[in-house]
Amino acid sequence: MSPPLLADCSTAAAADLLDDADVALLPTGATEQHGPHLPLGTDTRAARGVTARLDREDCVVLPPLAVGVSDHHRQFSGTLSVSPETFEAYVRETVESLAAHGLRKVVVVNGHGGNDDALRRVARRLRAAETAFVVPWNWWSNLTDEHEELFGRDHVGHAGAAETSAVSALAPDLVDEKRVGEADAGAGDVWGVHVGGAMVLDDAADFSDNGVVGVPSDGSAEAGERLLDAAVADLDRVCDWLGSRAFASLLPAEHQGR
Ligand SMILES: [Zn+2]
Repeated sequence: MSPPLLADCSTAAAADLLDDADVALLPTGATEQHGPHLPLGTDTRAARGVTARLDREDCVVLPPLAVGVSDHHRQFSGTLSVSPETFEAYVRETVESLAAHGLRKVVVVNGHGGNDDALRRVARRLRAAETAFVVPWNWWSNLTDEHEELFGRDHVGHAGAAETSAVSALAPDLVDEKRVGEADAGAGDVWGVHVGGAMVLDDAADFSDNGVVGVPSDGSAEAGERLLDAAVADLDRVCDWLGSRAFASLLPAEHQGR
């Protein structure tokens, strides 16, 4: 059964739920272009989809944060973005308010790579303050083998085969099939323009005509089911690891002396 949603609980029900839960799951995503064929909310939908498919009763799902750090997609219509500082503060204060109710172990189920740096900073800061222990986890982070087997390439891209597959599995009505060919035609091959090991240009518009990186037409609902199953199994392992540890054991080590 899916973990319960905090936002669907009354405060009375939440008191029991938060007492019993070992781990909170915070879905984070983005509202940004995903080519001509996928919805702006692809990343948030993927994060929510993975949490909803988890079969655990010791977790509680927090409301998703649907606008992330997406400035590098700003040239494409519909993209919304906040600064890394705003996103970091919003996540941190959300987790601090949760911790005040006694639940201090959180997995951020993230759907958007642009949020990575801010989430890592949040995790370090809350651990150092001994307020909460946060594990930032990207749903695609451990799927390199699946991606290679399914699509013959090991990088996930953007709005490419992996995300097209995930949305095809989670919300098929939101994939504009008529535009998948167009999505392929205007796509870039790799993320960023690279010179001598430096990423010299990093707006999506610098290396992709339509914002896509990868080959969307390689995606399918079947591939999406396989990716999501593997992601859910990964998230289950993360929850096992975090849920089985006492909060105090997760705090930073003492100074080691001279
Ligand atoms: Zn995405």
